Amino acid sequence: MSEQRPRPETLAVHAGWRADPATGSVAVPIHQTTSYQFRDAEHAASLFALQEMGNIYTRIMNPTTDVLEKRIAALEGGAAALAVASGQAASAYAVQNLARAGDNIVSSTALYGGTYNLFANTLKDQGIEVRFVDPSDPENFRRATDDRTRAYYAETLPNPKLEVFPIAEVAAIGREAAIPLIMDNTAAPLLCRPFDHGAAVVVYSATKYLGGHGTSIGGLIVDGGNFDWAADPVRQPLLNTPDPSYHGAVWTEAAKPLGPIAYILRARVILLRDLGAAMSPFNAFQLIQGIETVALRMERHCANAAGVASHLAQHPAVTRVIHPSQQDGEARTLADRYLTGGHGGLVGFELAGGIEAGRRFINALQLFYHVANIGDARSLAIHPSSTTHSQLNEAEQRASGVSPGYVRLSIGIEHISDILADIDQALAAAH
Ligand SMILES: *Cc1c(COP(=O)(O)O)cnc(C)c1O
Repeated sequence: MSEQRPRPETLAVHAGWRADPATGSVAVPIHQTTSYQFRDAEHAASLFALQEMGNIYTRIMNPTTDVLEKRIAALEGGAAALAVASGQAASAYAVQNLARAGDNIVSSTALYGGTYNLFANTLKDQGIEVRFVDPSDPENFRRATDDRTRAYYAETLPNPKLEVFPIAEVAAIGREAAIPLIMDNTAAPLLCRPFDHGAAVVVYSATKYLGGHGTSIGGLIVDGGNFDWAADPVRQPLLNTPDPSYHGAVWTEAAKPLGPIAYILRARVILLRDLGAAMSPFNAFQLIQGIETVALRMERHCANAAGVASHLAQHPAVTRVIHPSQQDGEARTLADRYLTGGHGGLVGFELAGGIEAGRRFINALQLFYHVANIGDARSLAIHPSSTTHSQLNEAEQRASGVSPGYVRLSIGIEHISDILADIDQALAAAH
């Protein structure tokens, strides 16, 4: 290959893999195995002691999953990655890898409903306090910080407001105090690379755009390799004090021979080992297939969503359209600054006629699927007010001021005229 560093579109197809040395297989093989034969007793001992990296047991690592991890790390511009069973596991581990009982993190209020529940209830029950702050003022993160704050957390393009998070501003505030920013980039792969703006960790629900086919649940955590975890050992005790569960290893030291990967190494050998939310090799294979086309799909998602947003904005039954292209002021500035690859595939809108009109619209859709998901190649819709399994947390719904007539669309990669035709006939049926 040439001297030029491959672009993300190329990395999505190639990174982390060239034909299988044993068979020549070009597609990544599915290594559906639980365990791996050690060469001899010394080999086993050196793997367990982390003197040598290698396969031990599929709960901790797997050759198929390894390709997925290398590919997302390359695509994101990070140092290394860890695949886990779901996006939920990725966000939980991303936090638990730094914070333990008595610690806190500061999070944006603008969160996916599942993450909100995890933070407000389950992590709280585990003794990890999540302090929710309004992301429209980055200084809110500083104000909520104290000596026990271990991380900041936010989503690049959160529902339902679709207002892009001020990544560089909050990352810089955190870095002054040795606090890393964890970004959930689920809604904006390729459109935004949070490491370029100072984030230290990126998490994904690979279930969504990265997979794109709607076949497989999965999560990814990417270590930017750009954060000095040892700079303030008191701030990050889990990475800087001897770990009794791993014969006294200090992760910032143990990782040194392997690269700037202390964070993701601990997540793998402690959290994945002990809590066990491993991705199956089959799902890793499926997600690799998805990532190969994600760059092209994101282009089409963005183009179609922009078309839907401008179409809805002109429709008399629609009272409000929520999409970065319809924003102005600070929100628009942030969208233009951080979503350099396009405004994403999500579009929200509000219907005159409230909750009943929203229900009639959803029930009339024929092309769109009515599902609790986003990022599929197919167009999807949900009316959060009429579902209990809402992807929109209640607090956020109230805070964002979206009305009961709010409908969320995840625009697929079909032909734009078929998408608009389905929306138009459903809007007509809603009134
Ligand atoms: C879906 C989603 C998650 C959770 O991912 P799962 O794969 O469903 O566990 C986390 N964050 C965002 C932004 C999501 O859309």
